[in-house]
Amino acid sequence: MLIDLHAHSSVSDGTDSPAELVVAAAAAGLDVVALTDHDTTAGWDRALAAAPPGLRVLPGAEVSTTAVGAAGTPITVHLLAYLFDPASPALVAEQTRLRAERRSRLRQMVARMVADGLPVDERSVFDGLDADAPAGRPHLARALVRARVVGSVDEAFEHHLRDGGPYHVRRADTPLLDAVRMIADAGGVTVLAHAYAGRRGAIIGDDTVAALAAAGLAGLEVDHPEHDADARARLRSLATDLSLVVTGGSDYHGANKRTALGAETTAPSAFDELLTRVPQRPRWPPKRNPGVPTGTSG
Ligand code: AMP
Ligand code: FE
Ligand code: FE
Ligand code: ZN
Repeated sequence: MLIDLHAHSSVSDGTDSPAELVVAAAAAGLDVVALTDHDTTAGWDRALAAAPPGLRVLPGAEVSTTAVGAAGTPITVHLLAYLFDPASPALVAEQTRLRAERRSRLRQMVARMVADGLPVDERSVFDGLDADAPAGRPHLARALVRARVVGSVDEAFEHHLRDGGPYHVRRADTPLLDAVRMIADAGGVTVLAHAYAGRRGAIIGDDTVAALAAAGLAGLEVDHPEHDADARARLRSLATDLSLVVTGGSDYHGANKRTALGAETTAPSAFDELLTRVPQRPRWPPKRNPGVPTGTSG
């Protein structure tokens, strides 16, 4: 039983369409794949409709949130959310705001680059994207690659786009605890994504994780490509202390990252436990999606 609970399609900053993603997931031998595009549920219908027999698609999202760090500095935190009602008015409003915020922040980053004489413009970043798509730095990275400013997406992050880098502009994301509650109110379940991926910038402390657990967080993403063995061991023990479910996911982004679907997985027993923590039977997905949320055994 292979379960990958973290994957992105071209609806956000991956490169496979939702239909291509689920076909690739089945080809990779997965039994369950979660679609977790950033701040949108726009790919759910297409992924569910295209799921090959035998593959279960868990509808989800990766929510952009912000926490307050030690010196009062903001810390970006990603929250994986599953099986929530995509029509929840509070959630729809906040995700719509976030997607607009993503765009205006990227426009500011482009303006800084243009001021420095770099050969990019808004069109080269946003062309081909839906007007309401959750645009992100990977789109700008690809524009920089196409303009031959850098040789790869990785290089673009290293030199131009990383947090605190010369062109980085922060977003106004959802306060972390608000996001946990908003997903719970929408009937969904939350897992803290790549909590110890320090390469991306500052990370939250264990005290904040404990506060999240008290607010209803269900799980910790332990097995993630950006966690080394030490980070995994510490997170596993934190999960035990806080009674949180241990999950794993590849954070697949198609050609925008090098990780393959199924490169990191969730244990079937952990997946079952996660489903038992879904606060209410979701109105979504409709019954035709087999096995969600009944678990791997039932
Ligand atoms: P944004 O959502 O615009 O802040 O951009 C963050 C996204 O960029 C993440 O979701 C990843 O998909 C991607 N990302 C972050 N760091 C890197 C990196 N070093 N190389 C490639 N992609 C990255
Ligand atoms: Fe991403
Ligand atoms: Fe993330
Ligand atoms: Zn992700």
